[in-house]
Amino acid sequence: MTNTIVCVMGTRPEAIKMAPVVRAMKAAPWVRCVVAATAQHRDLLDQMLARLRIAVDHDLDLMMDGQTSSGLLARMLPALDEVLTHEQPDIVLAQGDTTSVFGAALCAFHRRIAFGHVEAGLRTSNLEHPFPEEGYRQMIARVARWHFAPTIGAARALLAEGIAEDRIHVTGNTGIDALFQALGEMGAAPAASGRSILLTVHRRESFGAPLRDIFAAILKIVEQFPDVCVTYPVHPNPNVRDPANEMLAGHPRIRLCDPLDYFEFIDRMRRSTLILTDSGGIQEEAPALGKPVLVLRDTTERPEALACGSSRLAGTNAKRIVEEVSTLLETPDLLTEMSQVRYPYGDGKAGQRILDILHGDIVAKRAGAVLPATH
Ligand code: UDP
Repeated sequence: MTNTIVCVMGTRPEAIKMAPVVRAMKAAPWVRCVVAATAQHRDLLDQMLARLRIAVDHDLDLMMDGQTSSGLLARMLPALDEVLTHEQPDIVLAQGDTTSVFGAALCAFHRRIAFGHVEAGLRTSNLEHPFPEEGYRQMIARVARWHFAPTIGAARALLAEGIAEDRIHVTGNTGIDALFQALGEMGAAPAASGRSILLTVHRRESFGAPLRDIFAAILKIVEQFPDVCVTYPVHPNPNVRDPANEMLAGHPRIRLCDPLDYFEFIDRMRRSTLILTDSGGIQEEAPALGKPVLVLRDTTERPEALACGSSRLAGTNAKRIVEEVSTLLETPDLLTEMSQVRYPYGDGKAGQRILDILHGDIVAKRAGAVLPATH
């Protein structure tokens, strides 16, 4: 008997982190995998779907200029509901904490379809940081049937919220599976030439003054270290792109570019001395590549990289960022220590683990065990 699983994805990191699960499903005879793209971020999603060779069965094409989270959700629910009506899935799966993932969980809940949450249990416990993602995470946890936690810390956060232990599974992060897969296809890293910083920033809570502070810090750093170059793939959101162009464009040692192809980006990470980012996925990937990260936020839901010494919080204050970068660039022992290859986010087998857990529960259900769709 074949079971149908609908995988919902809307943004670049969701495509990256769902790809290993989709790949495992495509190889499993017991499951029919259906991919629904909300296309919350049209261009970045398409770039990644093409790179990872993920075929989309339902393209909801929901992105609109200036869309609000409520507007997006209001259009997403009926569109996704139609997909669920058409496909009659046994399970809906989605990864992360965007409006698309919340919409998928809510839609599945309305139809009493079991929802599996990939990368469950990440928490800052502050609804403002990150906004709106932290709220979505907490609300998704209320209705999910399976909570696939990437780390023990994430599992503990779910237990502390009263989620039943038998619904929580520590799988590792599927982003590490994707990274290993990419590295396998990419071949050996070329030797790094000179000292370089890779920068990415895109979080809503950094828009405005914090972003300008970060860019002021970058200008100060290149002035202070004449041998250091900065590469910055600029997020297309005008709240990021406009100040980036205004403050950083034209500097001979700051290279602004469009978002990079995933393989190209990994290659950039491999060749950089140091990464400055507010990205979640990059905080997870960098330790596995032996690259130190300064997190451009005041908090992180990825404390494992801090604990193992691969990353540090640098905040968004210009003076503090300059101090943190200077300390690292001027203290080779510290930089070497932070550059050890470490795997706090998994062993690259999370996708298969998730599928095996789903299979085990489906077999148990067929054998008569009661598996309620939701809490
Ligand atoms: N990434 C990429 N190209 C870029 C920047 C990032 O392929 O120019 C990848 C990166 O390797 C990581 C993911 O995109 O896997 C992170 O996405 P993002 O920072 O947008 O989201 P977050 O991880 O914060 O949810």
